[in-house]
Amino acid sequence: MIQTKGIAALKAKEALVPYSFERRDPKEHDVVIDIKYSGICHSDIHMTRDEWGFGSPFPMVPGHEIAGVVRTVGSKVTKYKVGDRVGVGCMVDSCRECAHCKEEMEQYCIPGNTLTYGSLERDGSGITQGGYSDVIVVNEDFVLRIPDNLSLETAAPLLCAGITTYSPLNHWKTGPGKKVAVMGLGGLGHMAVKLAKAMGAEVTVLSQTANKKEDAIKLGADHFLHTKLKEVFKENALSFDLIINTVSSADLNMADYFGLLKLDGTLVSVGAPDKPLSLHPFPLLMMRRNFAGSAIGSIKETQEMLDFCGKHNITPEIELIEPSQVNDAYARVLKSDVRYRFVIDMGKI
Ligand code: NAP
Ligand code: ZN
Ligand code: ZN
Repeated sequence: MIQTKGIAALKAKEALVPYSFERRDPKEHDVVIDIKYSGICHSDIHMTRDEWGFGSPFPMVPGHEIAGVVRTVGSKVTKYKVGDRVGVGCMVDSCRECAHCKEEMEQYCIPGNTLTYGSLERDGSGITQGGYSDVIVVNEDFVLRIPDNLSLETAAPLLCAGITTYSPLNHWKTGPGKKVAVMGLGGLGHMAVKLAKAMGAEVTVLSQTANKKEDAIKLGADHFLHTKLKEVFKENALSFDLIINTVSSADLNMADYFGLLKLDGTLVSVGAPDKPLSLHPFPLLMMRRNFAGSAIGSIKETQEMLDFCGKHNITPEIELIEPSQVNDAYARVLKSDVRYRFVIDMGKI
């Protein structure tokens, strides 16, 4: 077994504390990764507080935005070698047999993929533990290659915030001539801005926080709308082809946001609040609008996203913290005071 140092929530809603545990020795197709950096996703907060009611097991070591270097490889690993710069995102396995897995859409695995933390391993051997730790063992098929020109600390958040916004932007054909709006300028939102811009769209940020305007424009947005001003919704009605909703709360008047879509426009929710969104169908049926959801992205698409970011030099804005600062960082994320992704320096654990 591999001795591992991490940070865990021992129980739901409790502060995270140092936690030592063991990981499996590598199997034939496993890669052992020395974790250098781990991003903090708002999903880690939802999960450690058990806000979605998944009843996931504790102690829980969160973290699914992992960047590191290969320490060793199993005897049959062909894709990676010692010293490679690699990443791990939200999944570490899937059934590999269902129709969606066969079409390389493991994020939509029908029996359910194995999450990087809080999931039962497929062989029943234990519960997965995530990236707020110094080492992880992952099957090579769920390991990603980080382009040489991206630093490991800025690459880490791409493994969730990057792919979760890239996938719907890609699926709904973002490109020149398309008007895209992003709800919420946090970890996911700021990646959506950068990616949509690089894909050639005209980008608008819809934010409840007025003082994020300057940042939004610096990040590449063409426009910024402060959503606490009611008139914004009237003045910009029927404006957008696509809206990506990254807001972590359900405390939104969805009718206002649907009104911003053009005829046949689509609002995609990637934000995963603890409560249901409330919606009357009128704003949808009046303009034949679509309401959709999207979950992370496939392994193939994640590699494509990383290569796209490498090619266009797209990286998140990060605030590097030490492991001891995680609980303070969680408090700031909850106050919408993250500019724009916390990344933990796991070398300091
Ligand atoms: P984050 O960094 O906290 O950003 C969320 C942003 O939402 C905040 O910065 C804030 O932006 C806005 N917001 C928060 N509370 C709000 C409220 N009450 N009303 C209006 N706006 C509010 O979180 P994140 O890491 O980007 O994650 C966002 C959500 O996506 C979370 O629910 C997370 O669990 C989910 N997620 C889903 C997937 C998926 O596969 N679908 C993957 C990863 C994460 P402004 O200050 O600009 O308004
Ligand atoms: Zn995430
Ligand atoms: Zn499957």
